[in-house]
Amino acid sequence: QAKITGKNCYSIYDTENARQLSELHSYRKRIELAVDRHELHLHYQPQINMTTGLLVGAEALVRWQHPERGLLGPNQFLHVVEDHSLSIKLGEWVIENALSQIHHWSKAGHQIKVSVNISALHIQQGNFVERLQSFLNQFPDVAANKLQLEITETGSLEDLNGVAATIGECLTLGVGFALDDFGTGYSSLTYLQSLPSQLIKIDRSFVRDMLDDPNDLRMVKGIISLARTFDLPVIAEGVESYAQQEKLLELGCELAQGFIYSKALSANDFESWLSTWNHTPRVQRLGKKKDN
Ligand code: C2E
Ligand code: MG
Ligand code: MG
Ligand code: MG
Repeated sequence: QAKITGKNCYSIYDTENARQLSELHSYRKRIELAVDRHELHLHYQPQINMTTGLLVGAEALVRWQHPERGLLGPNQFLHVVEDHSLSIKLGEWVIENALSQIHHWSKAGHQIKVSVNISALHIQQGNFVERLQSFLNQFPDVAANKLQLEITETGSLEDLNGVAATIGECLTLGVGFALDDFGTGYSSLTYLQSLPSQLIKIDRSFVRDMLDDPNDLRMVKGIISLARTFDLPVIAEGVESYAQQEKLLELGCELAQGFIYSKALSANDFESWLSTWNHTPRVQRLGKKKDN
């Protein structure tokens, strides 16, 4: 385009480009500072077995308590970190803090399995397993199988065999591995075929409209049957209604996370949520009698 519009436009384009780059640079610097200033926090969203009504785990989701802008979600800042070395620093921060939280909960009598989201760049670092092992060593009382890694297929994995080997080593340590946002990228089937996964997560976008949109319902059904073919458990993201819960159970998907149970909560709020949840009869927890 620069060539067609001529020299003047090219320089305007260049200035604009430079301005964006410098903005990106300062935003990254600010995020790095946020890590050091302890402005980042992990929130935890419960994962439920819809048959038993029991908690099966929690997903750790990063939040930024920005001093001026308030509480920010990952969609407001992670895009500038992706594909940048900062995603490694952030990813390690997440792993370390999740392990520390598992340790803390375990001391308080809660055995909770925690899933963390790992960026494509991070898991492709040559020393990923070594670093993971060293974080696990920091918490000798935390069993490795209390930690699970989630990878989205939208991140670009250049060396699929290499990543498969890395995941294999993580599994050997005892750490779990899940395919996140399944069905949204271009390479779902390749990832499923190549990576030694233990769990498939149905993306929220399919669950959201599955009761109204026949194509979304077909996707959900297809993913569940694919998971069954691979002998893998499957969890539905973004369950918001009892009708969705019923449909998923009917289709053979037993695990779910979503606002119907709880949004992601601070560690303290998660503990309060858990004690109420545990003390509520199963029928009320799952709301089978309620209409929605
Ligand atoms: P994800 O891993 O697919 O996480 C699920 C997202 O769906 C979370 O959004 C969660 O709050 C939201 N969600 C769950 N249930 C419901 C529901 O019933 N309704 C609706 N409307 N939303 C629901 P969140 O926390 O904004 O995270 C967005 C994405 O950011 C995550 O998607 C994940 O890909 C990424 N992310 C979050 N934390 C981290 C992290 O620590 N590291 C990395 N690399 N990525 C992260
Ligand atoms: Mg996830
Ligand atoms: Mg997901
Ligand atoms: Mg998703």
